Amino acid sequence: MYLVMKSPLWFVVTMQHVGMAARGGANGEIHGLGAEICGDQHEDNDMSGSVDVVVVGGGIAGASLATVMARDGYQVILLERQTTYRDKVRGEWMACWGVAERRRLNLEQALLDAGGCYVTRVVPYDEVMDSAQAEVAVPPLDGILPGVPGVLHVGHPQACEALTQAAAAAGAIVIRGVSDVELNSGDAPMVRYQQDDVGHELRCRLVVGADGRVSTVRRRLGIELHQTTPRTMCGGMLVDGLYAWPVNQFSVGTEGDLLYFVFPRANGRVRLYLLHDITQKGRFTGPDRETEFLAAFGFRCIPDSEMFGAARPAGPCAFYPMNDTWTDQPYRPGVVLIGDAAGWNDPIIGQGLSIAMRDVRIVTDILRTESDWSAAAFAGYGEERRERMRRLRVTAQLRTDLAATFTPAGAARRRAYNTMWQTDPVLGGPHLAMLLGPDHVPAESFAQPTIDRILALA
Ligand SMILES: Cc1cc2nc3c(=O)[nH]c(=O)nc-3n(C[C@H](O)[C@H](O)[C@H](O)COP(=O)(O)OP(=O)(O)OC[C@H]3O[C@@H](n4cnc5c(N)ncnc54)[C@H](O)[C@@H]3O)c2cc1C
Repeated sequence: MYLVMKSPLWFVVTMQHVGMAARGGANGEIHGLGAEICGDQHEDNDMSGSVDVVVVGGGIAGASLATVMARDGYQVILLERQTTYRDKVRGEWMACWGVAERRRLNLEQALLDAGGCYVTRVVPYDEVMDSAQAEVAVPPLDGILPGVPGVLHVGHPQACEALTQAAAAAGAIVIRGVSDVELNSGDAPMVRYQQDDVGHELRCRLVVGADGRVSTVRRRLGIELHQTTPRTMCGGMLVDGLYAWPVNQFSVGTEGDLLYFVFPRANGRVRLYLLHDITQKGRFTGPDRETEFLAAFGFRCIPDSEMFGAARPAGPCAFYPMNDTWTDQPYRPGVVLIGDAAGWNDPIIGQGLSIAMRDVRIVTDILRTESDWSAAAFAGYGEERRERMRRLRVTAQLRTDLAATFTPAGAARRRAYNTMWQTDPVLGGPHLAMLLGPDHVPAESFAQPTIDRILALA
């Protein structure tokens, strides 16, 4: 399938897996991208020279933003490096506040159609409490935020695929298999990339950098990434055959020198994660790592945990160092960063998808309501994100102190915290922030005196 688009620069876009439909621009004009492509065709279109938005990176963040903007009639081009989304062991658990953001963006259905399901029950089986206690320790999750049925579990590659298709169906041009992305920021942003050894060039009003942790866009702009030092390694593996695990229940807890997570989906498919101290780096990397990973799930604190030994690996077993990063100003003239590209939160608290949803909602609100797309228009986004990431950083650090300090003192602190987080709203804030969002709990919860009180618990 080919589309030749003529612009003052005369550029040629060779598209694989292109989705495209007639759309008007923000002001209702059609700028030459309004051709419907079905099957193998070759079309010549006059470009007025520029599209509204070029999104670099078709992950959860980029594909969501492309869908929202294309639905509103903006001309959007989405560039994605991968031709097929692979399981790289990434986020699949979306917190209640992320679900609320997704609903506001009207993007929920795409994830449910991609096999997503709501989970309403969390059971924190853990060495510091018996299993009967764990089963009643946390109230149900449905309704803890108005209209939110629980936390959402969805396969990451499936979610990216569904959202990319939603973007294409809404009228965005989706170009996969791109490489060597370069860009010029400023009043007339330009993106250059390679596809099948052919160079291409795109002009636009705004570039959205949604290209993940090692963001090319961020590096090309010279935006500094601040980082905390990793204290833990986290790895995951998708498994099949776990029919005995209740499909509406996820579990998280600590035993010995491991923190575990069990995130179910339908039909016996479950995403398992393990987290260990950074000093054990390389622990699950040998040729038998899948077997060792499943054997490690024989936790005494989980009833019938021998079921994990019989599960079948359904994806890679991959571990990553866990840390927080952030940027002071995730925008420059003509460019804005969203999702991991703008800085990520330590996945120990599973907030990356929700952060991405909030980024998409705030940035698309600005783009859809303001005629000014200059850097100044994103100042509020930068400010909100800085504080949001600071609070989540505090939450992740405390969570590491409470759940991934694999010593008797660490267990004692966790036991003490478990008895008070539901009754003390300030001390409980960092815990509840993981479900409700960092702005739904008292600001005091993230202040140094609160941190000191939690760390002093025993
Ligand atoms: C082990 C682990 C477990 C996690 N668990 C959770 C969890 O349970 N819940 C949760 O909310 N979060 C979790 N996260 C975090 C979550 O996965 C991320 O925050 C989220 O995927 C970020 O989405 P994104 O779209 O910003 O970036 P990404 O998912 O990284 O997507 C970026 C996209 O850009 C593409 N790309 C990259 N470079 C280029 C380029 N130069 N040109 C074009 N395309 C490019 C990539 O191919 C990719 O498709 C976890 C992370 C890890 C590492």
